[in-house]
Amino acid sequence: MTEKTDVKRRKIESTALLKKSMSDYFYDLDRAAKDPGRKVAWCTSVGPAELLRAMGFAVHFPENHGAMLGASRMANDFIPLANAIGYSPDICSYLTSDVGSYLKGETPLSRAYPGIDSVPKPDVLVFNTNQCRDVQDWFSWFARELRVPVIGVTTHRGVGEVTKAHIDSVARQIASLVPTLEEISGNRYDPEKMEQTVGLSLRCSELWREVLETAVTVPSPFTFFDGTIHMGPAVVLRGTKVAVDYYEALLAELLDRVKNGVAAVDGEKYRIYWEGMPIWGKLRDLSEFFSGLGACVLASTYCNSWIFDALDPKDPFNSMAAAYTLLFIVRSDDEKEKYIEEMVAKYKIDGIVFHDSRTCPNNTNSRYGMPERLQARLGIRTVTIFGDLNDLRCYSEEQSKTNIEAFVEQLENR
Ligand code: SF4
Repeated sequence: MTEKTDVKRRKIESTALLKKSMSDYFYDLDRAAKDPGRKVAWCTSVGPAELLRAMGFAVHFPENHGAMLGASRMANDFIPLANAIGYSPDICSYLTSDVGSYLKGETPLSRAYPGIDSVPKPDVLVFNTNQCRDVQDWFSWFARELRVPVIGVTTHRGVGEVTKAHIDSVARQIASLVPTLEEISGNRYDPEKMEQTVGLSLRCSELWREVLETAVTVPSPFTFFDGTIHMGPAVVLRGTKVAVDYYEALLAELLDRVKNGVAAVDGEKYRIYWEGMPIWGKLRDLSEFFSGLGACVLASTYCNSWIFDALDPKDPFNSMAAAYTLLFIVRSDDEKEKYIEEMVAKYKIDGIVFHDSRTCPNNTNSRYGMPERLQARLGIRTVTIFGDLNDLRCYSEEQSKTNIEAFVEQLENR
């Protein structure tokens, strides 16, 4: 029987700087929304944020707000309000919780940042369907509701090899956003500013990769659960110096842990890969549960999704198109399996947890036999837990924990 202890995950000192960076970001967004001289754009999480920043917009990411709704467990109060206006409980629960939050007139931002009453009102909504169609539907609802323009990029999905044709098509679409953004922002597109912003975004991506890759060390100094919190600047502040400064500090702390053999989970016995969305309302609970079993969940597809190796400041449109098309979520199952196989070898993984996230088929890879294929090919154990990113009605705590315990016991028996 696997012995359960109350091991906690080790605290990261840079969290204080993280909190300050995020707080400054949200207060600045709030000021921008109230200042007639500034413009706010909403952007999907892997949308063309660099272009929006270079054109002078303050940028809000509704998926980040969706994650806050999940982590604060406010989502379940709001989802029914979106269901009542025709948005199914089976579609993206970021969409339904965010729309519900707007309908209810409440936001976790007010709790975290006194003085902020609502998410910033947009002047334009900009999507990229590289991740799913839900983002377009989500932004289109707000466009109708708030009477603001919605523009975006439609990306190929299920892509095997990424070809020049894919990149040309996406790059052209990103470039075609410029005239509308010029009109709304009142600013001319400035190639120098764009080069600078893409350069900062690339540096952020490089540092974020180095942060995540500290977890190749045995024992790992960093967990997936840490990653879900510390990825904030890579999501909402890429293209700024604030994000670069933050990841330099975090990386220094983690390299210090590596040097001194400090583990994120004391007594790390098993090294686990997390495939799929986080369960935002259960992060701490699951983190402590895995730690208590001596299992360190230390790498994930999700946190890796904000690594954009292809960015090139000298070729911004083509390189953004490549970076946003090479993403795991855009690719075919064959490419996804190759990617996971590399991760398993690189991070010396003992087992994979697949999260079947009820309302996000796009970030769920357990429904068409992938765990079984990887298990057969790599001789690695997998377990699928059933839940959701935000809708906790889809998550059975008891059943999930029983399955995780049985999975870790299988790792022990091996
Ligand atoms: S990828 Fe999934 S969680 Fe993200 S916006 Fe699309 S449906 Fe929602």
